Amino acid sequence: MIVDAHTHVFSDAVLQGRQAFAERDSWFGQLHPPGSRRLASPQRLLSTMETTGVDVAIALSFGWADQALCVEQNDCVLDAARRYPGRVLPFCSVQPAAGAAAVAELERVARLGCRGVGELFPDGQGFSPDDRHVMGPLLEACAALGLVLCLHSSEPVGRRYAGKGSTTPDRLLALARLAADVAPELPIVCAHLGGGLPFYELMPDVRRQAGRLYYDTGAAAYLYEPSALALAGAITPDRLLFGSDYPVIGQGRMLDWADAAQLPAPLREAVCGGNAARLLGLP
Ligand SMILES: [Zn+2]
Repeated sequence: MIVDAHTHVFSDAVLQGRQAFAERDSWFGQLHPPGSRRLASPQRLLSTMETTGVDVAIALSFGWADQALCVEQNDCVLDAARRYPGRVLPFCSVQPAAGAAAVAELERVARLGCRGVGELFPDGQGFSPDDRHVMGPLLEACAALGLVLCLHSSEPVGRRYAGKGSTTPDRLLALARLAADVAPELPIVCAHLGGGLPFYELMPDVRRQAGRLYYDTGAAAYLYEPSALALAGAITPDRLLFGSDYPVIGQGRMLDWADAAQLPAPLREAVCGGNAARLLGLP
């Protein structure tokens, strides 16, 4: 079974009115400038999954800065999951700074089958991942509702690109320390190979703090050679999830990148589906 732990789908309203949404949300505008084609409907995601042999995809919502926009768009991923049961797993988004309204929305979407929260964008949404006042209640709510948290991450070094942001390994570790305090059982997925955090887990002190964190490979083919997957897999074999970041990058291209890492068969099985299945309780 192949699970893609990092895809994005958008509603028809966003697909047909992207300029208006770019004006309403500057992070969305940065990531999806006029003329870019990297947006997909749930139907398009499903047809790509058919072509590439992906069995299950986590459909992440977008971390809109405006809580009302999060609520409005959450219904798109929930609806996709209803239309494609067993194929699409919905993750919804909230504005963490919205406080009680964010928690209420998590309760609403959890009742409707939501499996996780994300992808949250600390830079785009204007919150700090280790702000106890803002994140504490959100982490507690996720844990209480059985939701996985997925956070955009980025590298402290390397070239700049749209949406890189500043959620670097040190800030992810600070989040992990906060979570250890308020929601010790909560699984947190650091997208995009956690900005390189798995590699720092070779430091035992970092490993102790990061032991709760999962990493997905979203768009890693843009930044890393395939051997990075083999190395991350050797360091965190049980906490590494294949994810494409479709439609920012094709699922087929990301699967080719993963194949090029030439993982041993049991590790490939774990990374490409087994770990996600265990994390999300899939059959
Ligand atoms: Zn991301």
